[in-house]
This record gives sequence, C-alpha cells and structure tokens, in this order.
Amino acid sequence: MTLTDKISRLKREKKAVILAHNYQRPEIQDIADYVGDSIELSKRAKEERDAEIILFSAVDFMAESAAILNPDKKVLLPSQGARCPMAQMLRADEVRRWKRKYPEVPVLLYVNTLAEVKAECDICCTSANAIKVVEALDSDTILFGPDHNLALYVQKKTNKKIIPMPKKGFCPTHVLFQKGDILLLKEEHPDAVVIVHPECTLDVQKVADYIGSTSQMCRYAKELPAKKFIIGTESGLIHRLKKENPNKEFVLAYDGAICPNMKLNTLERIYLALKEEKHQVNVSKPIAKKARKALERMFSIT
Ligand code: SF4
Repeated sequence: MTLTDKISRLKREKKAVILAHNYQRPEIQDIADYVGDSIELSKRAKEERDAEIILFSAVDFMAESAAILNPDKKVLLPSQGARCPMAQMLRADEVRRWKRKYPEVPVLLYVNTLAEVKAECDICCTSANAIKVVEALDSDTILFGPDHNLALYVQKKTNKKIIPMPKKGFCPTHVLFQKGDILLLKEEHPDAVVIVHPECTLDVQKVADYIGSTSQMCRYAKELPAKKFIIGTESGLIHRLKKENPNKEFVLAYDGAICPNMKLNTLERIYLALKEEKHQVNVSKPIAKKARKALERMFSIT
C-alpha cells in the first residue's frame, strides 16, 4: 500500500479533511481535499460539517485561524516547526504599545499573525481584501502590521494614512524577488505577463502588470487570454497554476523563492500526524474569542 493510500484510508477512518495551502509541495496539493489560501481554507473547513479532524498542511498561524473558526474540530499541523517568520515579527505587547501611542487609531492586522496578536486588533485582513477592509474602516488613519510591503501596497491604493507596525515586517521568501531579475526575464519572454504578490518589495511591484494574493493570481492567470506568465510568489503556486492552465506557461521569477517553513510538511509527516493525531493546534478560549471577533469582522466586510 502506498503512502497516499494509507493517508486516504486514515482520512476515511478518522473523518478527516486535508487542507493544503497554495505553497505546499506538489504531492501534498495532489492528495489534499482543498488547495487554496489560508482564509479560503479556513472558511472551507467550516463548511465541512461531517469532518472531525482538519489536517491543515501549512504553517502555524493558518492552522491557528482554522482552530479559531472551527472550535468543535481537532486541527492538526503536520510539522510542529512550521512557523511563519513574518508572523513572529509582531508581538502582542508591541501592538499594545502602538495602541497606547495612537489610542484613537484602529488596528488592522494581516492574517499572518499569531492568535494572541490577532486578539489585540480591531479587524484582520488578507492580501486579497486589505484595500476593501481599509476603505470600510471609519477612520482616516490605520495602524497596519506586520508586512511592510503589503502596507506600502495598500498605502498606494488609498487616501488614508497607513502606519506600518513594526517598521519593517517582511516575508523572507517574497523579498528575494528582485526587480533586475524580472526585467531580465521580461527581455527573455517579451510576451509574458508579470504577476506578483504584494509581499514583494515596492520595486518589484512597480515592474509587475498585476499584483494580487495567490487566489487572485490564480483567477487572473485563468481569465487572461495571455499564454505566458512570470510569477512573483512562493514556488508552490506554480504547480496549481500549471494544473489549472495546462496550455499556459509559468516562469518563476526567482528559482530560490521557496519558503522553508511551508516545505517542512511532507506526505510522511501528514501520514504520521493523522495516524497519531499529533501536533494539535490549541488556542486558549479567551484569545480565540477575541481573535475570532477580528476574523469574523473581516468576513462581514468582504
Ligand atoms: S511564504 Fe512568507 S508569509 Fe508565507 S509562510 Fe512563508 S515566510 Fe510566512
């Protein structure tokens, strides 16, 4: 029996659903029940009424959001060490300090934050809905964290004042993309459309034809008649893009854009996590209650 067969059997026996982020290894995406971005997947988990276990193949903060939104289900993370470095760049006490400095200003946090940090904010956003959430807030100034590049992207799209906190939060994978590399690729592939994630630097954003979240990038690539794309996001998305668009070509703008945390998850680890029901994600009730409020508020707007 192959590892994939064993995983399928365990899934049936334990009433489990496997959710995989767009940045997961191709073989994981291929066995998952759903592949998507973090919030799409958490919402999906809520719709899986019969599931008792959610195996969330991604990193810590995403599995936490799934646990917050699905308190009646057991949420498992295949690799205990799969932690998003960006999410570690903003702590709850730092947010409290910013709130003391700007007591009248609402706090908007990117979902790439840990639960205890989300508990300190007024509302959350994703890279897909950040602009919409900013526009919906009843304030001309907004504290925004932790991704500085996403903050700059949003700032360009709104007349409101965005105060980034901390000053330089970033995704170590997305900042690897360089404007020079993209310009060279454009020379090599003059007919290609450049699409990048807003976690890329402003320099990279400036040379892109389209900027969007992973789900928006997938939609854009599918709908646009263009046949060739240069992609500025984590390497895992290429697998999904190729699968959904077999007649189109996708070129990763930098081969080293691999998130080591996302890639900690393997089929073997998924099998063991399901078998032993290990690495359960637990969020304390008071923290979950506050963080859920911030997430639900975002859902009510978008
Ligand atoms: S790609 Fe960046 S933001 Fe996403 S999990 Fe990895 S480090 Fe975090």
